[in-house]
Amino acid sequence: MEKLAIKGGDPVRSTKIFYGRQWIDEDDIKAVSDTLRSDYITCGPKVEELEKELARHTGAKYAIAVSSGTAALHCACIAAGIGPGDEVITTPLTFAASANCALYVGARPVFADIDTGTYNIDPASIRERITDRTKAVVAVDFTGQAVRHDEIRKICDEYGLVFIEDAAHSLATKYNGKQVGSLADMTTFSFHPVKTITGGEGGAITTNNEDSYKKLVLAHTHGITHDESLMEDAPHEGPWYYEQIALGYNYRITDIQAALIVSQMKKLDRFAARRKEIVKRYDEAFGTIPGIIVQKEIPQSDTCRHLYIIRLDPGKLTCTRREFFDAMSAENVRCQIHYVPVYWFPYYRHLGYEKGLCPNAEEVYKGIMSIPLYPKMTDRDVDDVIHAVKKVAGYYRKT
Ligand SMILES: *Cc1c(COP(=O)(O)O)cnc(C)c1O
Repeated sequence: MEKLAIKGGDPVRSTKIFYGRQWIDEDDIKAVSDTLRSDYITCGPKVEELEKELARHTGAKYAIAVSSGTAALHCACIAAGIGPGDEVITTPLTFAASANCALYVGARPVFADIDTGTYNIDPASIRERITDRTKAVVAVDFTGQAVRHDEIRKICDEYGLVFIEDAAHSLATKYNGKQVGSLADMTTFSFHPVKTITGGEGGAITTNNEDSYKKLVLAHTHGITHDESLMEDAPHEGPWYYEQIALGYNYRITDIQAALIVSQMKKLDRFAARRKEIVKRYDEAFGTIPGIIVQKEIPQSDTCRHLYIIRLDPGKLTCTRREFFDAMSAENVRCQIHYVPVYWFPYYRHLGYEKGLCPNAEEVYKGIMSIPLYPKMTDRDVDDVIHAVKKVAGYYRKT
């Protein structure tokens, strides 16, 4: 058996590798500098081009680019008409923004439990959490795998709920052959640097519903319109005139960011193919290692994985998750945990949420760890990660 680096042995690699990172090339840099030299640095042709590209890619009728994935979720909640007294059902195994968006509009996030195989929200648990205050479901495509659209659609139709899909992880994923972004009532995306493609920061919402689209447009630009057909006081006073007809925010994205995202979109297929290749190698390598549980996939999801999660089986290992994590770090493979259940955070605790709400999510959380996955990884990097997982799992294997 190889001696672990944390016990004084040689590390698997001499340089650190992280769980995710962006891939920016000279074309991206040129796209950004071209925009900086142009007339528009915000709300110009690049934002328009990005919105067209997103609509084309997803197959949705409308796309609105905004300043972040969080802004996208907030706008979606506004456009869904969610407000004080309403409840929004979401998963606890997500980034906090998926739940915070309900709080932004004065509603209460309600956490449904997850499926212990896929780690995605369990439609049966959504059903159990519905009350007469429930207004929407924010379903997260966790790690990039599509949620169970058929079941969630059915529930939302049955109870008149708005289906918002948080697709921050799943830009290139398909469900039953259809691109994510064209399926839910509204779908939100993020272009943070660890996501599939990036703009530094950035986000978007897609929808097929014209009324939602109009509300989203207002929500992300102060509730101000230049469209005379929407104005209350038209005929207007002159060519300078615009009207504020709702309360909105400044959630605009700049042309500088949009230029970067448009340039990155050209590489989306290549990035997705490489991610899939790495996932396949990981699945093959880890499927047979005692103590390591591989995430399950539903056949409907053609997944471009954003995160690769290994789950430790405590019955088969002598170490804690923390010990495994630290041992991986010593091998120079930096992992991350996605995510601490949202309602465990002090802010949520102070709102009255208690541990134990979602036993499956809490159980899964205790064993999971995200290992490096990003398209710029070389085959050598992938080999190193596999080597490190095998080495650490082998060392701590229960005999
Ligand atoms: C990253 C992320 C967000 C937030 O996106 P930002 O662009 O960082 O605001 C929302 N939900 C999930 C699941 C995310 O991973």
